[in-house]
Amino acid sequence: MLNSYIQHILLFEHIAGFVVPPPPLTLPAETERPTEEYSSASNISEDDARAAMIQFVSEHCCYGSKPAKEMEISSILPSSALHYQLETFSESRETSRDFVHYKGRKPLMGPMHGMAPPPWNIMCSPTNLFQDEVKELEVPYTAFAARCHNCDGRGFNRCYRCHGRGRVRCGSCHASGHTWRTDAEGQRHQETCHSCHGSGRKWCYTCGGDGRITCASCKGYRMLKHYVKLTVRLQRLRAVPVSEVAYKWEDTNTRFWIYGNEHKVHAPDYPQQCCWGCSIL
Ligand SMILES: [Zn+2]
Ligand SMILES: [Zn+2]
Ligand SMILES: [Zn+2]
Repeated sequence: MLNSYIQHILLFEHIAGFVVPPPPLTLPAETERPTEEYSSASNISEDDARAAMIQFVSEHCCYGSKPAKEMEISSILPSSALHYQLETFSESRETSRDFVHYKGRKPLMGPMHGMAPPPWNIMCSPTNLFQDEVKELEVPYTAFAARCHNCDGRGFNRCYRCHGRGRVRCGSCHASGHTWRTDAEGQRHQETCHSCHGSGRKWCYTCGGDGRITCASCKGYRMLKHYVKLTVRLQRLRAVPVSEVAYKWEDTNTRFWIYGNEHKVHAPDYPQQCCWGCSIL
């Protein structure tokens, strides 16, 4: 019986562990479409552009502020393809082998109950549209139970700290059971260790003195449920608005870019950069 389980699981292996290509696209119903938000090129005014550039200069300690204040802006061009905001999302699906502890109460949806469906046939819809999300599901008809490999089916493992003894060496007296005290006259006296009361050993708090630790894989249930896990990743994609600003300052004719709704600046040719500021000092 177990043999046929494993054979069936192996049949499924050809898709387990790979990113699965999606089936042909079916468009969502008209009502599911997101609102498309268009913002025109005039969104960035000359004042906005100058304010963004002055802010950018102030974030760079050595940059001179003169060009930002005095520059003559000749044009503001929205970047051709990205002057609107469009929201959409992508989905990827991936299968992998996994296991969890198995309490043995619920019967498993194993291969003898049916054929495992291909990953893109498994129902999985986003909780909220246009939000990043990762969902993990069990692929139906792939589960089987097996003895826990981490504890050999015992449900516990020997404590790594006390090696199963339940007690550890006392750190205060280095396991000798006594400590030394020097009195006011400089005489040394031997005393019983307060920490271990003279035994040189202390109770192991990692295992609670038991010498055993509950198995982390099966949580003490001794059995594991193996199954094929489907990971569904939903990712929101968003276009970023970009404006190209052409400007003139003294002999320099160049451009900079303003991107995002926070008006971030990219100005690789800014006329007064670090070296300019430093060289006249
Ligand atoms: Zn222990
Ligand atoms: Zn001690
Ligand atoms: Zn275990």
